[in-house]
Amino acid sequence: MNKPSPRLVQPQILEFKPYSPGLGIDEIKEKFELDNVVKMASNENPLGVSPIVQDVITANAALAFRYPAAGNPALTRAISSYLGIDPELVVCGNGSDEIIDLLIRMTAVPGRDNIAAFRPCFSIYELQSRLCNVEFRQADLNPDFSFNWEGLLSMVDSNTRLVFLTNPDNPSGFAVSGSEIQAFARCLPDDALLVVDEAYIDFADPVEKFSILRQALGSHRIVLLRTFSKMFGLAGLRLGYAVMPAFLADYYRRVRLPFSVNILAEKAGQAALEDTHFRDATRDLVIKARQSLSEGLSSLGCQVYPSQANFIMFKPPVSATEVFEKLLQKGVIIRPLKSYGLPDLLRVSIGTEKENALFLELLKAIVNEG
Ligand SMILES: *Cc1c(COP(=O)(O)O)cnc(C)c1O
Repeated sequence: MNKPSPRLVQPQILEFKPYSPGLGIDEIKEKFELDNVVKMASNENPLGVSPIVQDVITANAALAFRYPAAGNPALTRAISSYLGIDPELVVCGNGSDEIIDLLIRMTAVPGRDNIAAFRPCFSIYELQSRLCNVEFRQADLNPDFSFNWEGLLSMVDSNTRLVFLTNPDNPSGFAVSGSEIQAFARCLPDDALLVVDEAYIDFADPVEKFSILRQALGSHRIVLLRTFSKMFGLAGLRLGYAVMPAFLADYYRRVRLPFSVNILAEKAGQAALEDTHFRDATRDLVIKARQSLSEGLSSLGCQVYPSQANFIMFKPPVSATEVFEKLLQKGVIIRPLKSYGLPDLLRVSIGTEKENALFLELLKAIVNEG
């Protein structure tokens, strides 16, 4: 048989390096023959899925044979009333990943335009840019992981369509105020959009200081991304949303695949927005445990980076790779940051009190045996 012709796929796809996800629980159970595995690798909700939302998913199971309403108008209205804003400005997607992908495809002309972000950053921005054959430019964060605004601005030229920013940032947990971001947005040329990814904003304290929501409403050039994957505990259902200028939201609704947000995600999302008890419980747990986990890590000799998110980045006093591997063998999965270009650092998602205690206990043993 002849080899398939490389011309059958686009050149940027021939050399595509896929997203590297955190390891899965089943994989590790099997590999190390463990009964219990704790996953603290993907910043999921430590409390799981809200019981109220679980009931709603079950109650709607029989609707799975129906197509959802195209464009998910009921969910969009629920999100806009949760935020207290005009529904015209809100769109939803199959995770914020889908919205990131579509924003790139809607705005950037392949081979001409470019997209800018910090390095390191959430890898989906770069992967989808590459997939679309759009140049992706990065400015290094400051050594302490704070935002290097001058560096980012220096990447921007007349062909820059999108500038991505994650606040609070992943993987560091660093965050800036909404007004600081607004000041940066004002420096951008008129034909560039600032996309602020607020996947972790619900864990910032206080949210109002860090979120760009109010400023975004008065701007034609700010897009805000949010997700149901973290505080709302629905990562597996794939649901995200964005607040964007009305003209852009209008185009977005025209180009999005009509049924990409499925009917159960739609029902679950609406129920999750109403379940204030679950959200408060999640936020309280994360904010308290963030403090105690940071202290625990410091007392073991780790360098801990301050976090406004539901994870903590740290540098252990011994090899990060060894720490990661040894924790894995004991059934605790955390995130090595090699794929972010940070081989000496680790990221741990905040778990339940029990999970956090187990993690610290195992880490202590690893550090002490050197
Ligand atoms: C987790 C995460 C998201 C969420 O993506 P979904 O597709 O909504 O699950 C978005 N941005 C960042 C930076 C994240 O870490």
